[in-house]
Amino acid sequence: MTTTNRQLWLSVTQAAEVAQRHPVTVRKALAEEKLHGHQRAAGASWRIHADCLEAWLRNEPCPCAAAPTGVTQLHGAKAAS
Ligand SMILES: [Zn+2]
Repeated sequence: MTTTNRQLWLSVTQAAEVAQRHPVTVRKALAEEKLHGHQRAAGASWRIHADCLEAWLRNEPCPCAAAPTGVTQLHGAKAAS
């Protein structure tokens, strides 16, 4: 196990870098709901959780769906600003 100090929430650009995919591919996956992302409002910029991104890369179900307890909190967390 590696302990990297990576960010938990990624923008589309960052997610594309981490995933080594084209940003267009990431956006498409978000639009098709293959990749779990979050928007503060419709049309707002996407935020992708690192765990969700990893699940997508591995072609695995999103950890939020697999483990509703705990992880849901992350996704249910309201934006402070
Ligand atoms: Zn998720």
